[in-house]
Amino acid sequence: MGKHDHRRAESPFQRLWHRLGLAGDNAAAGDLAETAKALAGRRALLARLAALLVEHDLPISPFTLVMAHDCVTGANPRLAELLVQRIAAGLPMDLAWLEQALRHPAQDMAAEQLVTLLCHVRESLTAFDRSTHDAMQASDDFSDSLQGHLADMAQAGADEALVRKLADAARAMLVQASQLHAELAASRKRSAELQSTLEQVQRVADEDHLTGLANRRAFERQFHQALDLARRTAAPLCLAVVDIDHFKHINDRHGHAAGDRVLKVIAETIATLRDCECFVGRIGGEEFGVLFPGHNPGQALALLDGARARVAERRMINRSTDVPFGLVTISGGIADAVACGDLESALSAADGALYAAKNAGRNRVMLTDRAQPAGQRARP
Ligand code: GH3
Ligand code: MG
Ligand code: MG
Repeated sequence: MGKHDHRRAESPFQRLWHRLGLAGDNAAAGDLAETAKALAGRRALLARLAALLVEHDLPISPFTLVMAHDCVTGANPRLAELLVQRIAAGLPMDLAWLEQALRHPAQDMAAEQLVTLLCHVRESLTAFDRSTHDAMQASDDFSDSLQGHLADMAQAGADEALVRKLADAARAMLVQASQLHAELAASRKRSAELQSTLEQVQRVADEDHLTGLANRRAFERQFHQALDLARRTAAPLCLAVVDIDHFKHINDRHGHAAGDRVLKVIAETIATLRDCECFVGRIGGEEFGVLFPGHNPGQALALLDGARARVAERRMINRSTDVPFGLVTISGGIADAVACGDLESALSAADGALYAAKNAGRNRVMLTDRAQPAGQRARP
């Protein structure tokens, strides 16, 4: 068997070991759990976990340790495979990418189906509301016309006994019509309440719980709608990826809870772009996405740079320790979404411009140097 054939037969985690230069001891994936019982095996396992985390400059946390364990032992071959592809492409494995990679497609699909279901229910409720309104209108018209006929008959001097009989029958029908009216009105009220509950559910499903911005799923949906509209109206559309600079230092120095507060303040500042018809979402840990419908790249750059300057001007203080956070800044990369053509290419292009901004010293916003996706660039 040639070398190539041999490599093809490897499992994703074995290929990951090769990538990390850890395949030397020939332990097969299945054996690793067994041998991990022995001291040497445990050492080998820990060495692999450490190599993966240190090489990618990831923090040592329960989340990253579980991920590394699952990749290295073969418990999560899908993640190992994604990681091999990522390393081969020369791209970094940061926390935002990991969170994205660990999102199981089935979860996304279930969430998407739930949103579709909510849309259907809301459409049905709207149709129900329309038909009950029509039915109420018809019942009111019927009552009015019945009362009119009764008055006409009385005026025309029709036989008194007959008029009385007809009047009794008509009155009974009027009582029924009025009951029907009341029932329909109650149904409409209930359906309006249900509509508003569904709207709240949809809002919660679309919201990032920390910042209140749109979450990644809602942002992606908005991107597709905005791109569709831009194409139909021949209008420009830009997409930006924004990332907080050296955010790890803020967490390390002030703690995660204080880091969360900084994240919220930065989210609020970026959200001011909504005044210019932009759409803002939190698309990763400390990453935001911004859509600029109707703005060309130059205009989007000016708007986002304004938000960047507003972030840099803020002087935040850690309220639990009174220690200033110092200069907190963001960097951003902007891509022409229409030229890129789809979400993946636009994100990849904006990501490329973001890494260029980081490379150039951070606290700045850059455009992709080409209209086409910027391709894969190495992270600073
Ligand atoms: P760079 O300028 O290159 O972006 O440096 P960085 O330190 O911001 O980048 P890195 O990706 O290494 O670190 C991102 C940090 O963001 C690490 C992670 O702990 C933190 N983070 C991600 N999500 C959250 C969150 O929801 N809350 C807090 N407090 N921290 C978060
Ligand atoms: Mg980041
Ligand atoms: Mg960052």
